[in-house]
Amino acid sequence: MAKIFCVANQKGGVGKTTTAVNLAAGLAQLKQRVLLVDLDPQGNATMGAGINKAELATSIYEVLLGMSDVKEARKTSETGKFDVLPANRELAGAEVEMVELDRREKRLKDALAAVDADYDFMLIDCPPALSMLTLNGLCAAHGVIIPMQCEYYALEGLSDLVNTIKKVHAKLNPDLKIIGLLRVMFDPRMTLSQQVSAQLEEHFGDKVFKTIIPRNVRLAEAPSYGMPGVTFDPASKGAQAYIAFGAEMVERIKAI
Ligand code: ATP
Ligand code: MG
Repeated sequence: MAKIFCVANQKGGVGKTTTAVNLAAGLAQLKQRVLLVDLDPQGNATMGAGINKAELATSIYEVLLGMSDVKEARKTSETGKFDVLPANRELAGAEVEMVELDRREKRLKDALAAVDADYDFMLIDCPPALSMLTLNGLCAAHGVIIPMQCEYYALEGLSDLVNTIKKVHAKLNPDLKIIGLLRVMFDPRMTLSQQVSAQLEEHFGDKVFKTIIPRNVRLAEAPSYGMPGVTFDPASKGAQAYIAFGAEMVERIKAI
């Protein structure tokens, strides 16, 4: 059975997509079969995996609305060696259109069930909102990975996210757990980063991943080549950190 994880944080630009794409590539390097699910109308994970979001015949939009299925819509990332359920701006419409449909929070879960046997991992890149799309991600997943920048405001939105996860766990998806908080874009020279990082460890204990992802320009450059940072420049500090994170994930999920 595939392990399904959401990469979620309703704050924008905190490193969700970079984490989803590079974890997918890192796990693929560890010989895991991975499906990266782009659940964001921005389609950044799709593009970052080297798939042109403007040229999709079918996408996750049709899948969520029941007009297609994952087997038809999925593509292969040649640069990342994993599969992608791609998205583009059409997906924004699904938010409204799904409200009318049966099992509206579980449409993604139901769709992914059909390809469960094909994968070891499915990683869902969520949009920056606690929306119907994110709710579908949380209902489909066994766990949530929360990327965070270690800055003052990072902690502010965290309680909303944690409360949403608790509600989904109680009402819609008893399997859902917080797998961990991932410190990203970390700058060890900043005192504030160190302080927030220590605060996170104090509050969340071993829910904080040991691996820390540094700020690294190669990770930011990679998407413009349609490549995960992990394959674009494997020797870079950012790529190395995401490979270490992949290994930490494989270890951590043995315990859940
Ligand atoms: P959104 O909320 O819009 O979906 P996001 O949370 O998915 O954003 P990303 O797109 O992954 O965030 O990252 C935001 C920006 O920061 C991007 O330009 C990305 O290339 C850059 N970035 C992410 N992680 C790093 C890093 N570790 N080092 C340097 N730049 C990074
Ligand atoms: Mg994103």
